[in-house]
Amino acid sequence: MELLKKLGNKFQKPYHELGENMAKNRRKNAQIAVSQLSSIMLRYNEIDLEIVDSAARQLISVGKRHGVRANSEVTRLICRFCKKSLIPAKNARIRINSGRIVTTCIRCNRVYRSKISQR
Ligand SMILES: [Zn+2]
Repeated sequence: MELLKKLGNKFQKPYHELGENMAKNRRKNAQIAVSQLSSIMLRYNEIDLEIVDSAARQLISVGKRHGVRANSEVTRLICRFCKKSLIPAKNARIRINSGRIVTTCIRCNRVYRSKISQR
C-alpha cells in the first residue's frame, strides 16, 4: 500500500491541484466540444443526417453535464424529445401560423412554437 502511494505520487500531481486543473479544463473542453458540434449542426446540408443526429444528441448531453449550451441558432435545429436533429424539409415541418413559427418534428410529432422576431 505504501509503495503504491509512493509510485502514484511520482506520476501524478497532488489531488487538490489536479482537481483545480480539471475543473478549469472541463469548462474549456466543453466549450470546444460545443463549438465543434455546433459547426457540424449548421452544415446539415453537406453532412450525413446520421452524423448530424449524433451531434444533436451530444450537444444535449454536454449541455446537461457541463452547463455549456449552444446558441439559439443551433438549438432550434434539435428536437429535445427524440434527441435528434430537426432539419427543415428533411425531418421537420415549418409553417407560419398567426405570427408564430410552428416547427413540427416529423419523427415524434412534437410541436415547437416561437415568435417571429420583429426588427
Ligand atoms: Zn422529435
